[in-house]
Amino acid sequence: MKILLIAEHDNHSLKGATLNTLGAAAQLGGEVTLLVAGSGCGVVAEQAAQAVGVAKVLLADQASYAHQLAENLAPLVVELAAEYDYVLAPATSNGKNLLPRVAALLDVAQLSDIIAVESADTFKRPIYAGNAIATVQSLDAKKVITVRTTAFDAVAATGGNASIESLTQAVDAGVSAHVKDELAVSDRPELTAAGVVVSGGRGVGSKENFAVIESLADKLNAAVGASRAAVDAGFAPNDIQVGQTGKIVAPSLYVAVGISGAIQHLAGMKDSKVIVAINKDEEAPIFQVADYGLVADLFEAVPELVNAL
Ligand SMILES: Cc1cc2nc3c(=O)[nH]c(=O)nc-3n(C[C@H](O)[C@H](O)[C@H](O)COP(=O)(O)OP(=O)(O)OC[C@H]3O[C@@H](n4cnc5c(N)ncnc54)[C@H](O)[C@@H]3O)c2cc1C
Repeated sequence: MKILLIAEHDNHSLKGATLNTLGAAAQLGGEVTLLVAGSGCGVVAEQAAQAVGVAKVLLADQASYAHQLAENLAPLVVELAAEYDYVLAPATSNGKNLLPRVAALLDVAQLSDIIAVESADTFKRPIYAGNAIATVQSLDAKKVITVRTTAFDAVAATGGNASIESLTQAVDAGVSAHVKDELAVSDRPELTAAGVVVSGGRGVGSKENFAVIESLADKLNAAVGASRAAVDAGFAPNDIQVGQTGKIVAPSLYVAVGISGAIQHLAGMKDSKVIVAINKDEEAPIFQVADYGLVADLFEAVPELVNAL
């Protein structure tokens, strides 16, 4: 059984999502080849070669892959897939952009966002915003799978010793171009990789008041998240939205402040190890999933908590 796994990276470092996807690959068993496609990304290939469970790294270092445009990468992956039984990628924005194209070109059905490996051809995946879990079997000869990274433990980043092979193909489909990156710069941990997340909801009331959430996040060395209502109201940027249409997180500690606990929000955080909710409404649904609940006004409770910490 041979697995081709698409590495998530930014040409400088291998992202943690790849290590979680390797965790899923380990459950499948078989030989894992990691594809590092980018430009000036040799250092990523070296990091990838050290990840536990990687047999081989394919390094596709070409200008046309610099921004990992799915239109250029899909034909490369399809060509390589001839030798593999599985193509895996993390269910990140990149993975979700690339793999459907690969599946379509291979004329197979994609298995999306798997959360468990039942057998070589059967997987579990959430549907209806995580309110039901579907068990899906694929009889396709090649299986194209995106992996929900929060559902699988990461393999160790070091300890492996894979070989690195350079590829010479340089696909440029010529149908898309990278215009610019607009990256939110933050000193805080990255939301989907953070061990602690403090999220604010509509109850926070304004963009200025979000400083209350940030002060608690600073004390806990946490990433800051937000509900969609908070994002829609302009209290927080949309790249920190947690939920069905935002990011999926599963930190050790998730603190929900002024968030009611709508199912679409729970879909993005209910797998957190410990959930703390602060809400002035004791009937708020968030208390049904919270391990610790505090019925209080957030503008009193959070500063008190910050002082105590
Ligand atoms: C297709 C679809 C996709 C969606 N995707 C997402 C998603 O990805 N993420 C997401 O979050 N939502 C999503 N939503 C929206 C979701 O249904 C809810 O509307 C949203 O989560 C509500 O956000 P909230 O809890 O911040 O606001 P509210 O539901 O308005 O809750 C605010 C809470 O703050 C409390 N509060 C107010 N003042 C204080 C105070 N001073 N102290 C303490 N507590 C206070 C209130 O008691 C209340 O419980 C989606 C909806 C749809 C239809």
